[in-house]
Amino acid sequence: MIVVVLVVLGLCLGSFVNALVWRIHEQDRLTGKKKKPHKKQLDRLSILHGRSMCPDCHHELKPKDLVPLFSWLSLHGKCRYCHKPISWQYPVVELLTAGLFVFS
Ligand SMILES: [Zn+2]
Repeated sequence: MIVVVLVVLGLCLGSFVNALVWRIHEQDRLTGKKKKPHKKQLDRLSILHGRSMCPDCHHELKPKDLVPLFSWLSLHGKCRYCHKPISWQYPVVELLTAGLFVFS
């Protein structure tokens, strides 16, 4: 039973790490441009307030799209809204984090 709890916690933390890395990268990309980004754009990428979104179409994701690993598998690695591929990096990071939780 403890292994199941550790896997779920690891998947959730891995998903959070993925979102964090993507948001920091997007914030750097936006602030590195010559034209200043709108405050609204930066607010959407806030670690504290922003909602999860598709990396391509920026459509806000619904709770059913946010279940670590299972959402990616059920959507066959594609966005529900724009149907563009979602990187295999997301489930791999989630699985690796879950593995680290179990083995530690
Ligand atoms: Zn999309």
